[in-house]
Amino acid sequence: MPDQLLDLAPLDLGRQGMAGGVAARTLRKDGYAGAVVLVGHEPTPPFGRPPLSKTYLRGEEALSGWFVNPEDWYDDNRVERVGATATRVDVQAGHVELAGGKIIRYAKLLIATGGENRRLDVPGADLPGIFQLRTVADCDAIKEAARPGARALVAGMGFIGSEVAASLTQMKVRVSAVFPGAAPLESVLGPEIGLLMAGIHREAGVELIAGDQVVRFEGSGRLERAITRMGLKLECDLAIVAVGIKPSVGVLEGSGIALDNGVLVDALCRTNVPGVFAAGDVANHLHPLFGRIRVEHYNNAEKQGAAAASSMLGADTEYAYVHTFWSDQYEHKLEYAGHARTWDLFVARGSAKERKTVGFYLSGGVLRAAVGLNRGGDPEQDEHGELAAAARLIARQARPDPSALADENRDLDRL
Ligand SMILES: Cc1cc2nc3c(=O)[nH]c(=O)nc-3n(C[C@H](O)[C@H](O)[C@H](O)COP(=O)(O)OP(=O)(O)OC[C@H]3O[C@@H](n4cnc5c(N)ncnc54)[C@H](O)[C@@H]3O)c2cc1C
Repeated sequence: MPDQLLDLAPLDLGRQGMAGGVAARTLRKDGYAGAVVLVGHEPTPPFGRPPLSKTYLRGEEALSGWFVNPEDWYDDNRVERVGATATRVDVQAGHVELAGGKIIRYAKLLIATGGENRRLDVPGADLPGIFQLRTVADCDAIKEAARPGARALVAGMGFIGSEVAASLTQMKVRVSAVFPGAAPLESVLGPEIGLLMAGIHREAGVELIAGDQVVRFEGSGRLERAITRMGLKLECDLAIVAVGIKPSVGVLEGSGIALDNGVLVDALCRTNVPGVFAAGDVANHLHPLFGRIRVEHYNNAEKQGAAAASSMLGADTEYAYVHTFWSDQYEHKLEYAGHARTWDLFVARGSAKERKTVGFYLSGGVLRAAVGLNRGGDPEQDEHGELAAAARLIARQARPDPSALADENRDLDRL
């Protein structure tokens, strides 16, 4: 280890997040022996949130399997965990202020504060019975309210809304879902996959109300119904508002750290302030392939947490991860590789009818992303799968022949 790092006291503002926990592990794995302090305001050790909308919500799995590091790892590796809310960052003084007045000095700082749920700013939004989902406490509260036979309203059918709608249905809750687009997940995955997902939810018994939105919640002392823009009155016992997240940057206001849709970082996870880094949902990063993007997925939090820690120790390897994520809904699995906010061509192979298909998103002839529904493998685990092959094409900015992409018999690695 270089001498000047011996007194390094990196501070991570995201104790429970993936990115923070992985960064701490990477610092130790890469041989850093100085002080490491994790600050965060959730009670659990760093963990992955995916089971909160799936197995943990349905009571099928404990959280411990999703801990980033075993609980005793922190003491064993001299990583201090401070349970507190950070209220201010002073980059001149090189310290972070915590609620209650404590000050923690740092030599290097990693911002891994993740995101917070957007609220629905409509009358009645504070009625008991209306929930958000980000934390274990949120999930436990939903679980408690989601009794078999109860009527739930899900507002928003992005990933969290779709997964919660599926899980609640599996828990024998009657679900109505209201969302502005034409189909679930349409804005991320396009109309073709969106319509397949709509079919899956309808078949499972979810009432899908597309092209509409909740304008008011009503109830005397507790949620009783939601009113939509189209004038529907949806009687419900509970509602889950899943209308997206915004990056948690409140603590950084006025700090001098550049913010724009999150914390602006370069490909080495560095902010504009020397010694301050960011990773995970909060990091709006400059990606060598995809330009400036902010990614709200588990695999990014994990990989970028590690990349940022390496950068903190002086590595100069660009974070060029070909982003991937997954989503589980009922028995169906979506896997995605790459990043495409817009595209001008979508082609698919496989059988939409059997819901086993891989779709490809091209922009100007360049393959930017691919999605698999019950097909194509996990791009992280199955290197021979179609999604992993697509990720390799995306990494080299390939311009494959669209008809070859759609052809079952063409090996993607040979395009
Ligand atoms: C219900 C749910 C299901 C998901 N399922 C999937 C999935 O199936 N696949 C997938 O790819 N992704 C999934 N995700 C997304 C994934 O969990 C996130 O991308 C990941 O958690 C981001 O990690 P992070 O470390 O950046 O942020 P977070 O996990 O949000 O951690 C940030 C931490 O910082 C803390 N913090 C914030 N501000 C302060 C402050 N001022 N002081 C102290 N602490 C602070 C927060 O409380 C939090 O503990 C899911 C997310 C949710 C909510």
